[in-house]
Order: sequence, then C-alpha cells, then structure tokens
Amino acid sequence: MKIDIQKLVRKNILNLKPYSSARDEFEGENGIFLDANENPFGVLNRYPDPYQKRIKQKLSVINQISADNIFLGNGSDEVIDLAFRIFCEPGEDKVLTFSPTYGMYEVSANINDVELINLDLNNNFQINLETFKPYLNDENLKIIFICSPNNPTGNSIQNIEYILENFNGIIFIDEAYIDFSPEESFKNKIKKYPNLIVSQTFSKAWGMASVRVGIAYASEEIIKFYNKTKPPYNISQLNQNEVLNALNDENIRLVQDDIKLILNEKKLLIQSLKELKLVKKIFPSDANFILIEVENADLIYQKLVEENVIVRNRNSVIKNCLRVTVGSPEENLKLIETLKSII
Ligand code: PMP
Repeated sequence: MKIDIQKLVRKNILNLKPYSSARDEFEGENGIFLDANENPFGVLNRYPDPYQKRIKQKLSVINQISADNIFLGNGSDEVIDLAFRIFCEPGEDKVLTFSPTYGMYEVSANINDVELINLDLNNNFQINLETFKPYLNDENLKIIFICSPNNPTGNSIQNIEYILENFNGIIFIDEAYIDFSPEESFKNKIKKYPNLIVSQTFSKAWGMASVRVGIAYASEEIIKFYNKTKPPYNISQLNQNEVLNALNDENIRLVQDDIKLILNEKKLLIQSLKELKLVKKIFPSDANFILIEVENADLIYQKLVEENVIVRNRNSVIKNCLRVTVGSPEENLKLIETLKSII
C-alpha cells in the first residue's frame, strides 16, 4: 500500500513557511549571537535548541531509530494536538477514537473544530472490528487514535495490525504506558507504515511528568510536518537538560528498577483489593494503574477524598469504576486501610 503523506496534510500546512531563525543556519556552537534579541548577560539568556538535537541523538542510539524519525513535544499532549493541526481541516475532517479512552483526543478535537467519532470498546475493552470496518472508507476520516495500554481501562488493545493494514489515513498509537506493559512497542513499525505515529512520554515510567516532554516516532515526512507546525521553542532548555541527564545507562537501569518495583506493588495492591468486599471487579491492566468496579463509586470516591486519598472517579464513563494509580508502598497501604475503614 503506497501512502502519500502530502495528500493527508492540510493545504495551508503544506504550503506553510515555518518560523525560522538565523540560528537554524548556523551549524557551530560558539558564535557571537546578535540575531535573536537576547540579553548577553545572565544564565538562561539564550533560546533553547528548537530541534533538541542532543536529546534526539541519544534517543536514536538507545532505540536504534534515526533522529529524523523523532519529534519531541511539550508533553505527548502537544504531540496529540499538533496531529490535529497538521492533518485535520477544521469544520470538515474527522478523527476516530475507541472509548472509553484518554480524554485529550476529544479536547483537542473540540479545540481544533474537528468532529470526533467515538466507537465503544466491547465488554472486554477491545475494538469491535465489525462496527469499525465501515469507517475505513470515510474520506474525511484523517486520524484514528489508539491508546495501548488504554487509559482508563488499563488493557492493551488487540487488532492494531489490522487497522495498520487497512487504513490509509493517520494511525496514532498512544503508548504513554508501554514501559509497564509486556507488549512490544509499535515504534519499530514506522518504516513499514509511513502513516503511523507512535507517541511515548517521559511522564510515566521515567518519572518526569513535571518536565513535560513527549516523543513522537514516525516517518521522516510526518516528522518534517511536525517540525514545521510546532511553536519554535516548544521545550525549554531547563527541561531539555533534565531529559539529557536522564538518558544515561545508569539512570536507564534505575528506571527499569522503578518499573519492576511499581509492577510488584501493583500485584500486591491487586491482592489487597481482591480481599475487600466493596471491590466488585478488578480489570486486567498492563499499565501503572488499575480500573476497579465498586458498589458505589461516587460515595467511595468522596469518602476517600475526605481522608486525603485521591483516586480518579470514572463513574461518568464506566459505571461505578474508579481508576487507581499504583503509588509507593506507603501510599498503597494508606489506600487499602482507608477503603477498609469505609466498609
Ligand atoms: N496519553 C495518555 C494515554 C495519558 O494517559 C497521558 C497523561 N495522563 C498523556 C498521553 C499525556 O502525557 P504527557 O504528560 O506526555 O503530556
């Protein structure tokens, strides 16, 4: 299947002349910089590298993916929002999600005046291929968002390959929680599928949510349009430094240890939750959170808040369900003790 990415891009983005600075043309590091109206004095006086080249080089070596196939966003939320701005004509085009899923796809759709088609996942929180298939031929359907492992349900999504093989628009796979999952990332498939975007983030397994750095892996063509459309200095130098410091062998080992610790805590938390009468069901999870069904989610949520334990009440999207992040051993214990006191 030959896919022409240019045909998928909004016309005004195709012809857009992106903001460029004189610094883009200067290859060296130590010039006399009189081009950007910066203050010559101070510590953080210079604009950051707009293309975060050093981070991309490191990611490229770690993941064996060319730096030209990598984009960095102000969190993966920016990676999601830019996809709308690159591919969807406001008031005309559509995107598709499988719900319940991560809320920002809908928020970005609304901000960008793009229609959202919301197909319900089935009872096992999997895609119902039969109800989905008719949408494959909708010419105005530009992006399909697949979140795997899915937030808030926690499970990995099956049949993604089928969609990759049969959809000619953009397939956006959100892998914010992939590092907690036994499943393999789709980022190694970007060569095979030029219309695939895989997003990941430093906010979850890397423990750097406040740094606000997300990653997109995609074909060179898609990455070029991301670079054209993004705000010039979308990641501050402070935040770039934090990511650069995190991308070393020793820290990568520490992150792996943290993941193991969190997964072990998840197991213990599930065991403790199973023993509670008010917990009706625990859904399978490949992420660092668990979806649980309780007797009365609103009431239990409220009682937990009164004890300063904050979980996510998802009653409005999945009846009587709470989403619980796996915390530290002390935090998880406090949750279980508080739940016991509610009974
Ligand atoms: N995708 C999913 C599925 C998420 O749950 C989240 C954060 N809750 C994000 C993306 C956004 O992450 P970031 O911090 O990288 O913007």
